[in-house]
This record gives sequence, C-alpha cells and structure tokens, in this order.
Amino acid sequence: METRQKSYETEVLVLGSSAAGCGAAIAARRAGAEVLLADKGKLESSGCLGGGNDHFMAVLDEVEHDGLEDLYGYYATPVSGLTRDHVRNFYDAMKPCIKILEDAGVELMRTPDGSYMRSVGFGQPGPWWIHINHGYNVKPLLAKYIKGLGVKPLDHFMITHLLKDGNRIAGCMGFDVLKGDFITVRCKTAVLCMGLTAQRVSNNSSHKPFNQWFSPFVTGSQIMLPLEAGASVLNLDISDMATMLPKGWGAPGMNGINNMGGHELNARGERFMGKYDPMLENGLRRNQVMGTFQETLEGYGPPFFMDMTHFTTEDARHLQYDLMPGDKETYLEYCEARKIDFTKTPLEVEVGERMIGGIVRSDATQETDVENLFNGNIIHSFSGAMCLGYAAGGFAARKAAEVEMPSLPEDMVERRRAEIYAPLENGGKGSVSWNVFEDGIRQVMDYYVGYQRTEGSMEQALKSFETLAAYVPRIAASTVRELMRSHESMELFRLCRCYVQACMQRKESGRAMYRRADYPELDPALAKCLVTSLDESGNPVFRWND
Ligand SMILES: Cc1cc2nc3c(=O)[nH]c(=O)nc-3n(C[C@H](O)[C@H](O)[C@H](O)COP(=O)(O)OP(=O)(O)OC[C@H]3O[C@@H](n4cnc5c(N)ncnc54)[C@H](O)[C@@H]3O)c2cc1C
Repeated sequence: METRQKSYETEVLVLGSSAAGCGAAIAARRAGAEVLLADKGKLESSGCLGGGNDHFMAVLDEVEHDGLEDLYGYYATPVSGLTRDHVRNFYDAMKPCIKILEDAGVELMRTPDGSYMRSVGFGQPGPWWIHINHGYNVKPLLAKYIKGLGVKPLDHFMITHLLKDGNRIAGCMGFDVLKGDFITVRCKTAVLCMGLTAQRVSNNSSHKPFNQWFSPFVTGSQIMLPLEAGASVLNLDISDMATMLPKGWGAPGMNGINNMGGHELNARGERFMGKYDPMLENGLRRNQVMGTFQETLEGYGPPFFMDMTHFTTEDARHLQYDLMPGDKETYLEYCEARKIDFTKTPLEVEVGERMIGGIVRSDATQETDVENLFNGNIIHSFSGAMCLGYAAGGFAARKAAEVEMPSLPEDMVERRRAEIYAPLENGGKGSVSWNVFEDGIRQVMDYYVGYQRTEGSMEQALKSFETLAAYVPRIAASTVRELMRSHESMELFRLCRCYVQACMQRKESGRAMYRRADYPELDPALAKCLVTSLDESGNPVFRWND
C-alpha cells in the first residue's frame, strides 16, 4: 500500500485522549507547553469517558472520612502499586479537576443546601462519589474546553510503538486508522494515558467481545508499549478487573445500584454477600464478583438478581432513569425490551468478562523508568484517571521546559514502518483474519485462565499460545480498519502471554479477580508487588518489589 508520511513535533505528547489524557493535556497546556493529544478515536467521544460517566470520586474535606489521610488508607496499601506520593498527587488534583469540569459545563449534582450530592461506594469509608447529571455530555464538553485552551488533538492515530533517543522518550509512531497515513511524532516529553484496563481478553455470556462493560478499544498499549520501550509494570498479575452486569447488557451498571443499596440475591432468593464482604454489595467489587462466582460453584445460581424493590419510589426512579442511562443512553430501551422496573422486580445480573491491567512504574513526579516519559494512568475511575493525568501533564510540561528536542531513531522507524503495514500484504491460503486470531486468544484465556485456574492450566495456556504464535505473521488485513484491528489483536496476544506468566509467579489466592485452586489461601508473605520488565529478546522477567 502506498502511504503518505505525516510528521509532527510537539513539546508534550499525550498518548490517549480519554479522562487521563484530557487531564494531562489541560495541565500541560496551562503550564505553558505546546501539547498534542493523540488517540485512535476522536477527542469528542474517545475512551470510557466517551461512553458517559455518572459519578466523579473526590474527597472534599467536608465530612467525616473525607480527607487525604482517608485516601492514603484506602489506596496506598502495600500491594496496590501506589505510593503515598501518587495518592498525594491525586488529592492535589481533585479540586482543580472539579473546577475544570464545572467550568466546562459538566453538571455535578447538588442537594438543596448547595453541597454536592454524594454517595458511598467500593468499600470506601466516606461519601466520595459526586453524582453527575447527563453524564454522556462530559466528553463533548471537555473536548470543547480543551480545544479552547489551544491543545492540538491528533485524532484517529493508532500508536504502535514508542520511540527513544538513548533512554529518553523521543516520540511515537503508527498510522491513521481512516486514511492509512504513516505518522511519526517527535516530542520532548510524553504522558502515557492509553487506559489501565485491557479488554477483549475474555468473553461474557453473549460471546460477543465488543458487547462488554468497559473498554473494547483498550488492548494493552498502556502496558506493552512502555514495557517494550524499557519501562517496568507493577501488578500485572493482580490488576484484573470484572464486574456484575445486567444480564445481556454490555455496560457497567453496578456503581449506582450498589452505592444506593441494591441487594444481590442468588437463585434461592438469599442475600448472600455477607459471606464475602463485611460491606456486602457495597464492599470491594472483587468480592462481589468472586462471591457470585463461588455461589455458582456451589450451585446457588444462576440466575442472580439485584433487588431494588425496597427503595423508595423516588430513589428507584432516580437510579433507573437518571443514573443508569448516564452510562449508556440506550439503557432505557433495554429496560423497555425486558420489562424492567426497579420498583417492582429484581434485575437479573451476571458475572461479566475479565480485563487485564497493570501500572507502569513511576516516581513521585510520575516519571517512568524511561526518561521524560510520564504516567497518567495509575488509578482507575474517572477521577483517578483525570486527576493523575492532570498531575502527570503538569510534571511533563515542567520537564519539557528544561530539555532539548531529541532525535528520532530513523533506522528503526523505517524498519517498523514495513512491519506495521505487513498485514495488508498478507492474504490467501494460510492467512488468518484478526477476529479469528483474537477469538483464539479468548478461547485460551476463558478455558485455561478463567476465574479459577491452576499452574497446570496456565502451563497449558502457554502451550496453546505457542500454537497461536505461528499465526501472527499470517494475520491479514484488507482495509485500514482491519489493519488497526490486526495490531490490536497482536498486542492483546503479547499482553496475554506476559500476563499468564506473571500470574504463575503468584502462588496464592485472594488478591486478584481469580482463584488458584492449587493455592487457595492468601499468603501473607506475598503482600508485595510483582514487577515485570522485558529482557533483550522481549521475554518477560519478574521480580518482587518489597
Ligand atoms: C460506560 C462507562 C461508565 C463509567 N462510569 C464511571 C463513573 O460513573 N465513574 C467513574 O469513576 N468511572 C466510570 N467509568 C470508568 C471511567 O470512565 C474510566 O476509569 C476512565 O475514564 C478511564 O480513563 P483513561 O483515560 O484511563 O482511559 P480509557 O478511557 O480506557 O481510554 C484510553 C484511551 O486510549 C486510547 N488508546 C488506547 N490504545 C491506543 C493506541 N495504541 N493508540 C491510540 N490510542 C489508544 C483509546 O482509544 C482510549 O481513548 C465508566 C466506564 C464506562 C465504560
């Protein structure tokens, strides 16, 4: 394929334009830097935030359990991978980010006395979740605000590699997912904001990988690209996430339901969560998922239900008609089709598919092991992403003011350029399409590396991956869109291989969103983070960070 080359240069390059990327771009621009905000999607709708968010988490120092010490207690635990510095950065950015949202026109809901309408969730000690009205407007409003600041968006840019000059970040490369143009960007500093949670690694009961609850557009760039550039990743083995889903509905819906006091019932009509978490449904999400999984193993479901029939009519109405559609506007059509009415009947739910995460290791200024490469993706959630992106953007801008523009490694760029477009040259006998290949990854992950697994099942997964590896050079794309999907599936594959090997290091259960049947107990000696990096051949190497 004949491709045009486009080259850009900027002081601060923000990789990913969802919540973290928006926070980073705003802070960097406000600090006076020239900022390019790159994403394979479009700024107005990219990322999870583009799907609409209905809560923003913040401590406000207004009521009990509402301050920095409470944040430290919740987040800076030995195995979280977060330092107190990161939590402090999160805290410092909360109020500025709330102001940005309100200045942009986002409707944070207030009670009649003028304070924010907030609720408790996720086992947190205080009412940290501010309700948002019309959550699907957040992204377009932020996009307008960001453009108004003079940030330059670079939409539809699939980033395939980070580029370095020595051990310094020098930029990135990839292609335009609509036109196929080859793109390079040179920068003084860069901020990683490509999403903490890689999805499409496993299926829910619909067996449609894009019908899922979170981020089908995140396939591991945030982990694999920095790893391949020499950074390290924490907690690849235990950062899995999953949630309960309204049955057959591929979007998260549990925040509001759990926060407002929904009761989960098993097939026998028992409210069982007390067995798994002292805060029941409002405890850790991991406990709800693993608790429901355990009930399934014991034969007490499916079906499972969330019961809101004890709510006041006003609360049930607010939940069903204000909060739930904030996640996805079509929610009310789903309710109508299934005759769902929170005031009258429990809502059927299921354990959804899993996703894989990991935190790129960074210091107090969120600079990673690669010089001038900062990390904005450290804490999940809208505010975790936006605030730590905001902090990273500020640090990146200040560093950019001190350093020279690096050189791009031109020989590597040319070599990689041919590799990037290779799937377009494949086809015919022996070739395989990205979706067939990717389906193979999920089959391995679901069968051998599911909610319950053993050393033997993971060894078998790695053997199956060996078979799949032979197909990588044969993945064929006939359009630029398929080229994007091909790169996503290859990245997903590299991620899953690293992930399984990382999970094999942790010989215990209870810290992750899965159970090792061969090591069913929590091992207190393993209250530490696994650090993953790659050796010169690209194979993962592991060590423990005490
Ligand atoms: C429907 C929905 C509702 C939610 N509701 C809430 C809520 O109410 N409150 C809350 O706190 N949280 C909520 N969340 C979670 C919250 O939205 C996310 O945690 C947060 O937005 C994550 O932002 P992020 O910037 O880390 O990355 P993501 O949103 O995961 O975005 C990553 C971005 O990087 C881009 N990208 C990835 N790889 C590449 C690549 N190789 N090249 C180019 N671009 C790339 C993607 O296109 C994407 O735009 C919700 C999530 C969803 C899906």
